[in-house]
Amino acid sequence: MELKFHFFPTAFPDETLHSVLSRYARLCGGPSRKAAFAGNRAAVSFTQNVAFPCRLDDLVESLPLGTDLSVSEIITRHTVLPYYVPFLTNDQVQHARTSMAGGGMGLMLKLGVNASRIEAASRVRFCPACLDKDVVRVGAAYWHRVHQLPGVLVCPHHGISLRIIDPSWYSRNSWQLNLPDDADVQTHSHQAIAGPEAFPVLHQIALYSMQLLTPTLSPISAGALRACLLERAAELALTRGKLQRLDLRRLAAHMAGVFSSLPAAWEYSVLRESPADLPATWVTKLLRKPRHTHHPLKHLVMSAALGVDLARLTRSDEPSAPPLKRPPLIDVGHLQASFPAALSEELKGLSAAVLKLALAGNEALQIASALGVSRVSVYRVIRSVDGGPQAWRDARFLIERLRRREAFEAEYGFMQAHKCSDYMWLYRRDRTWLLSCIDRHAGVHASRANNTGAFALLDEKLADQIRACAQRLRAGMGKPALVSRTRIGRELHVLSRLEKQLSKLPLCARALEQVCESVEEFHVRRLQWARAKLVGEQRSVNRSALYRTACIRP
Ligand SMILES: [Zn+2]
Repeated sequence: MELKFHFFPTAFPDETLHSVLSRYARLCGGPSRKAAFAGNRAAVSFTQNVAFPCRLDDLVESLPLGTDLSVSEIITRHTVLPYYVPFLTNDQVQHARTSMAGGGMGLMLKLGVNASRIEAASRVRFCPACLDKDVVRVGAAYWHRVHQLPGVLVCPHHGISLRIIDPSWYSRNSWQLNLPDDADVQTHSHQAIAGPEAFPVLHQIALYSMQLLTPTLSPISAGALRACLLERAAELALTRGKLQRLDLRRLAAHMAGVFSSLPAAWEYSVLRESPADLPATWVTKLLRKPRHTHHPLKHLVMSAALGVDLARLTRSDEPSAPPLKRPPLIDVGHLQASFPAALSEELKGLSAAVLKLALAGNEALQIASALGVSRVSVYRVIRSVDGGPQAWRDARFLIERLRRREAFEAEYGFMQAHKCSDYMWLYRRDRTWLLSCIDRHAGVHASRANNTGAFALLDEKLADQIRACAQRLRAGMGKPALVSRTRIGRELHVLSRLEKQLSKLPLCARALEQVCESVEEFHVRRLQWARAKLVGEQRSVNRSALYRTACIRP
């Protein structure tokens, strides 16, 4: 290899490979690819700002000793391949990984992505709020993977419109390695969307897209996916008869309704194209027997349109979760139910419109610009209703909590809980949910290779706690309780860990084997206790009294 890096910047969470290399170039003195990577012929391939950078073997070989980055790590954490994984076959995923490590020959064709006009309509984007936050948090601005995903026009973390880089300027300067805080980038970027009516759906799509970046997702069966979509389409009366044949006219109208609130540009201009009074071909293809690979954005838009929680469907670690669950789309119905009855009687005209948007959790500015009124009148209308301000506060809190919960769940997939951006907020205001979420997903983090050390320590500590807990349970006063894995798990608040991760905790498994008792042993212990109790109370000790006191059936 001609070029060796003498240093290499640490890659940040959700940072694209192109971004890490751009930061390297900046540290070397400027954005020029030529200057920073002179002598490395592979650099043209791996520095490009594309979905699937290749020649990663060459890159990793050039990294300085001690850099904690493997090809697999780069692909999983710093490229967008994981976003595509649920919709590819195992074969395609394997081929993509090999191809990205090597020369990338035929990769796009094999993934069926280059045929998709969606990719061509997609733009380079960044979130101004993330930029500011990153500069404060990690000392540098960087490109986030999630903002580059097709169809993501709203930041999933901040719920604000992303800024789009002017594509003609970008392609003229494609040999430069820019970062979002470069003056040129700032000058050649503009806000992605304007109308507030698009925000709820776009935000939902952004959150789903981010959830798809979770590195632990595996391909999902096209059949299962289709069944879920079709079932929901039937619930929405978009199919006919027992055979669930698509009602094309209704389906077209439904999709037109969905697209009416989405922007008419970029990826969405491609997706909304359809023959008159008929749904777009991709819509019917997804709902009929899926034969080919479809772009993830099509699945995301379809799921959002039908209200199918795609992200939950792709989560393989939740077998108990219902396969079909409607996502909490922002609508007022469920909120209004909990508000004072007087409120709904007073909904009239403009006031009604303001209150409707307020109860949907929108901010004053969003309501004002949606209805073309001033913010002052928004506040006035809300104040004029008895209980209005409190109901508005509650609604905004619910929406914010929902957004932060979803963002946390998505981020927690690839970083530690306390490093996720919404951790502190949730810790202060939604601790019960936060702890249960961490507990629920503990298995995902435990499976990471770099956790093995921490796991061994935990195993030892927890095994001691299990023994102590069992001893405490047996020594306890009163009626003996069954010493079981469930009981110990509950006592120590580690039940789900013991259920999901016991194979990784050998000392705990052995401790449980030793301390847990069989039902027979437990019955003997209960009967002995019952006998002592009867004797102590100077009652007659006979068979039926013994069983009754022990609360077990003979
Ligand atoms: Zn942001």
